Amino acid sequence: MAISDNTIKLLWGRAAGTCSNPSCPTALTVILKDGSGFSVGEMAHVIASSPTGPRGGDTGGNDEYENLVLLCPTCHRTVDKAPAGAYPAATLHQWKQGHETRVRSNLTARTYESVAELKTYVALLLNENKTLLSSFGPRSPFAEADPGSNLHEVWALRKLDTIVPNNTRIINAVEANITFLNSTEAEVFFQFKTHAQAFECHQYTRLDTYPMFPVCFEEAMLP
Ligand SMILES: [Zn+2]
Ligand SMILES: [Zn+2]
Repeated sequence: MAISDNTIKLLWGRAAGTCSNPSCPTALTVILKDGSGFSVGEMAHVIASSPTGPRGGDTGGNDEYENLVLLCPTCHRTVDKAPAGAYPAATLHQWKQGHETRVRSNLTARTYESVAELKTYVALLLNENKTLLSSFGPRSPFAEADPGSNLHEVWALRKLDTIVPNNTRIINAVEANITFLNSTEAEVFFQFKTHAQAFECHQYTRLDTYPMFPVCFEEAMLP
């Protein structure tokens, strides 16, 4: 058995690409000066595949999402090499759950005092997504200069750890403050929401086609 692609994506996205050990929030993507990059994240087994491995039980652990936790190489080595009992399965489950809860709570919306405040927040997130697209996306200068580079891998990770969560933040923020929008703005927001949901789905199950980002939403959100 091997860890499936979608399990890796789910772990990476829900952990926002950072180590799950609460005392080590290390970001797990390394970006080199030439724009290329790679992930140093490791999918650590809570219960080792082998009964004699770390936290091994009577039977080995499986490669499913529930038995894996995203760690940096150092934390992975620490929990696997420490004397038995120092890092029990319960501790690793706690790390993972706590980390994913923190990542999720980062997505919840607040209410704003004014439409300008809401738009400032949304515009900031759209801007971050746009910057990532132009730096790491398929049309970025590095990607065009060296189509054989591994930039598409960095782009795939950024979509999961930043762009999809930013889209969720935008949807939550606008929906919590929807009365600020006029009907035209609300309409382009719903177009954006349709795009964002399909975009997220596309990361896990390739869609032949999905609605593009509506540029008019960006214009409507200019503070
Ligand atoms: Zn391990
Ligand atoms: Zn770590």
